[in-house]
Amino acid sequence: MISNILLLMQESIKRCKSNRLTALRELQEEENRDPFKILIGTVISARTRDENSKIAVRNLFARFGNPKELSDADIDEIADAIRVAGFYRVKARRIKEIAKIIHKVYHDEVPRSIDKLLNLPGVGRKTANCVLVYAFDIDAIPVDTHVHRISNRLGIVDTKDVEETERELMRMIDKRYWKQINDTFVIFGQNICKPLKPSCNECSLRDICKYYKVISSLS
Ligand code: SF4
Repeated sequence: MISNILLLMQESIKRCKSNRLTALRELQEEENRDPFKILIGTVISARTRDENSKIAVRNLFARFGNPKELSDADIDEIADAIRVAGFYRVKARRIKEIAKIIHKVYHDEVPRSIDKLLNLPGVGRKTANCVLVYAFDIDAIPVDTHVHRISNRLGIVDTKDVEETERELMRMIDKRYWKQINDTFVIFGQNICKPLKPSCNECSLRDICKYYKVISSLS
């Protein structure tokens, strides 16, 4: 079932001619899977448009290239580099704290364990799972608002929050598909199944979508 859903999403994405990569995929490609840059880039990307995340990440790493430089940096300078991102002052403080721990405790190596990642300041399950998938190629399902919304609209799950969605998806979906979920659902959510006005008429999943069945029965 999930393989069919992923195929239909890719078909819809192609039809709307979106060749765009998500901010995380672009970061993964540009930074050659550098785990530290992917970790910090994921922190920056929270509640921030992809375009602005990309600018902030480039500005930051143009000034500070590694955990040591970032842990020694002035918080105001970090904030200035990532100013285009939402909540940049809070993020600047977190970035410095994370950099200090990665430098001092982990000797500049980002840990590959979800528990250790979750112990870093401000790192939640979505960020930790993004690092596992995009930096280490480890099977995980990073669930953000797009993955949560679309999974519920389609009727794959019936859940209240992202944590419950992650648990349900991990229970239901074969592990070999986990790494594809975030990337495909996010692009699909940004272009077709948008939060406020989903483009159902351009969507190949209408026949299997619970939300579409409900709205079409009302019209
Ligand atoms: S039919 Fe509409 S609501 Fe359902 S997945 Fe497609 S765009 Fe989203």
